[in-house]
Amino acid sequence: MSDPLLMIPGPVVLSPAVLAATAIAPPSHVSPAFIERFGSALGRMRAVWGADASCRPMVLAGSGTLAMEQAIANLVDPGDAVVVVNTGYFSDRIAEIASRRGGRVRSVRAELGASVGADTLRAELAAGPAPAVVCLTHVDTSTGARVDVASLAAVAKEAGALVVVDGVCATGGERAHMSAWGVDVALTASQKAIGLPVGLALSVVSPAAWAARERLRMPPSLYLDWTVWQPIFEAYEAGRPSYFATPATTLIPALDVALGELLDADDGPSRGMEAVFTRHERVGAAMRAGWAALGLDLLPEAGAEANTLSAIRLPEGVGPDLPARIGKRGVIVAGGLHPSIRHTYFRVGHMGWVTTQPELLLRTVEAVGAGLTDAGHAVDVGFAAIAVEAALDG
Ligand SMILES: *Cc1c(COP(=O)(O)O)cnc(C)c1O
Repeated sequence: MSDPLLMIPGPVVLSPAVLAATAIAPPSHVSPAFIERFGSALGRMRAVWGADASCRPMVLAGSGTLAMEQAIANLVDPGDAVVVVNTGYFSDRIAEIASRRGGRVRSVRAELGASVGADTLRAELAAGPAPAVVCLTHVDTSTGARVDVASLAAVAKEAGALVVVDGVCATGGERAHMSAWGVDVALTASQKAIGLPVGLALSVVSPAAWAARERLRMPPSLYLDWTVWQPIFEAYEAGRPSYFATPATTLIPALDVALGELLDADDGPSRGMEAVFTRHERVGAAMRAGWAALGLDLLPEAGAEANTLSAIRLPEGVGPDLPARIGKRGVIVAGGLHPSIRHTYFRVGHMGWVTTQPELLLRTVEAVGAGLTDAGHAVDVGFAAIAVEAALDG
């Protein structure tokens, strides 16, 4: 049997070019070829993030959680007020990280599956001490809900706060323009919409966030310190070798390839990141059309649905073994993640290279339909496939 198709919200299926780029003998971190790829990748991060030339890209070996730790460690002093716009499991995580750093954390909590509006955040900011940092989760992977980063960041700026966006599960898929939106740290992990294996914690830091780090009273732990890494990345961008701690020399050349593929995207009328964003929007809508045609309801409320994944309620009479049944049909999907509702829904990732492959998207919807039928909940798979195809073409 062919390999099952991995359609979870990260790790994701790699493009053939990225997969080939990871299959190399590990290079030295000071070889000329590696230096060139690393320098190129750092510049391309700014372009993918929509970050000005004055922003500083950071690439650490680690998962997305390390990028979250790094942002907080460089911006929050013990006693600082931090506001977390909480849309689920990963917002809880950054709140925990900030409170371990000694931050006084307040959460603006959405109903599960809902977003938080600008007015709600404005009222919360007015109600308590002015925060140093406001944290947003662009897409909370536990609920499939997306927040409007541009409007929430604007409200945070009005209040004089720095804005940290957890873009794991969004960056490289969901529409985002770091500098134009006034975001100060935009972070992600390599294995989500960027389309690499797990192993890189990626972030881009604004000049205002950098200035806040320079004012910080309690330095971050050494490995997380932006000021330790910055000269290293600057050297690589200038084509010079440099060393503080060994970078992930196998993943970084592949990062350059993955970012290059995003920036070279061409969907006819639009190019580059605009093409990537509209493609994810089209694919998100098409997958939702497929779920609707199967009679399924989504967890996120209308208008707040992410385009990078779907969080889907289990229909009446279908148990949490549905992902296992779908797996038997050759497609791996994920179970629920948010602890309070884990057994009531499942999740399907649709970000990165698979968004360029209509037949893989169709295979996914068909496998979900077959899994439902196997679970005794008969659905019309052909009808769903037609709905997906129509939406992809439309
Ligand atoms: C996956 C994810 C994380 C955590 O990333 P890891 O690489 O698993 O550490 C954080 N935030 C969001 C929104 C995610 O989807």
